[in-house]
Amino acid sequence: MNLSTHSHDAIDLGLTWRNTFAGLGEEFYSRVSPQPLPEPYWVAQNVSLAGELGLPPSWRESSDHLQALSGNRAVAGAEPLASVYSGHQFGVWAGQLGDGRAILLGQTTGGLEVQLKGAGLTPYSRMADGRAVLRSSVREFLCSEAMHGLRIPTTRALCLTGSEAPVYRETAETAAVLTRLAPSFVRFGHFEHFSARAQLGQLKTLADHVIDRHYPQCRSANTIGGNAYAALLQAVSERTAKMLAHWQAVGFCHGVMNTDNMSILGLTIDYGPFQFLDAYQPSHICNHSDTQGRYAFNRQPNVAYWNLFCLAQALMPLIEEQEIALAALEPFKTVFPQELERQMRAKLGLLEDAAPDDRALIEDVLSLLARSGIDYTIFWRRLSHSVGDGDVTPLRDLFLDATGFDAWWLRYTQRIAATSREQLSKLMLGTNPKFVLRNHLAELAIQGAKQKDFSTIVNLLQVLEAPFDEHPAFEYYADFPPDWAHSIEISCSS
Ligand code: AMP
Ligand code: MG
Repeated sequence: MNLSTHSHDAIDLGLTWRNTFAGLGEEFYSRVSPQPLPEPYWVAQNVSLAGELGLPPSWRESSDHLQALSGNRAVAGAEPLASVYSGHQFGVWAGQLGDGRAILLGQTTGGLEVQLKGAGLTPYSRMADGRAVLRSSVREFLCSEAMHGLRIPTTRALCLTGSEAPVYRETAETAAVLTRLAPSFVRFGHFEHFSARAQLGQLKTLADHVIDRHYPQCRSANTIGGNAYAALLQAVSERTAKMLAHWQAVGFCHGVMNTDNMSILGLTIDYGPFQFLDAYQPSHICNHSDTQGRYAFNRQPNVAYWNLFCLAQALMPLIEEQEIALAALEPFKTVFPQELERQMRAKLGLLEDAAPDDRALIEDVLSLLARSGIDYTIFWRRLSHSVGDGDVTPLRDLFLDATGFDAWWLRYTQRIAATSREQLSKLMLGTNPKFVLRNHLAELAIQGAKQKDFSTIVNLLQVLEAPFDEHPAFEYYADFPPDWAHSIEISCSS
């Protein structure tokens, strides 16, 4: 329990609350109050999400909302808590972790849970300070919405507040609080926690909670082995496979795929040292702290499977039969490659039935991209335009190996010969985004925010919410990364 006292009455945010997680029992969490932050100010507001949530329009200017969402005033109807979980970090069992700086307010409109990330110490803060710095909070705010704009499952970001309160990382920085939303923040690590402690009653309670709220189909009689928990594992394997296919297709590198950063709903969660690829490089490592490259871009699918295996082990007391558990993991091995191939084919505009050469067409273009270190996002966008206007020069100019490209282009144009180019181009422009949150763009937003200039955040949010649209006023955000982008180092420190 924090000692912070809330001197005023609780604030009514204009939302209704139901707190099912709080109902699970004391073993699942500790009740905590957010720690106040001095003189908070707004950094970012997600107006469209607020509208969906049903926040009264006045929230944007409301000092009550600012105070409550910075953790300075209690929220009427909320039952703030920090949940306990464990996990494997970098392949090693890390034991108990838990929400060390995220505080769950409860569950509100549309079944969405609301967390304040960076809202102060909890019993799970270990040696850390319970805070989040402005820099990484801006990154998480923008990337959550970028992923949503790309139609990739993710936690959402409602708003971000800042304060001059110092937070010490490698250097002195300042604090921020992110309000994030998800139907559930339960992670693989929550299951690992109770399983490792042989708290089987709690393990079952948690699994039942997740099934009842998010996977009710797992209760049907004809599921795998007739076992609802195996069916849960199977459903999570499928969702995780689909999420990974999205990541690989769009060129997203998460950076810290520890089991405590894996959502039971297959949502992208805990944005830290993530990166959208600039130049295509399959073994790219985006996390400067990941010296072994465990979470390199091309290892992500294998790591996801490894993490699912940890989840399977955690669920063994409920599934009981090893064979059934292994069978429940199988979908990952089929759904992931199928889904990735479907998405890569869509990027190429190959919509009709798959042809035998399609896979080679995909693999060959990726090796050309890797060999010439070509910008991943720009390649796909230019391809989409070239298909439509017939002008291949801007695309061809990207390649050092022009002969290699010409040979591929010939095969590709033969493959799409039967389709209307105009129609194809339109579809491809709706599949291959013009804008992704590149590191240097996040960096520009951060540099502005540090000077209290939030215009880049506003502009980027607008563009990233609709990344397939042209936004001619923001051409600059779709350009190649500047030279200084290569010197950006992003680590776990946040
Ligand atoms: P992450 O790598 O950010 O997913 O964090 C791993 C664990 O460390 C989680 O249990 C976090 O809650 C905790 N943690 C990370 N940073 C902090 C912090 N500044 N204060 C307290 N706990 C933290
Ligand atoms: Mg985490």
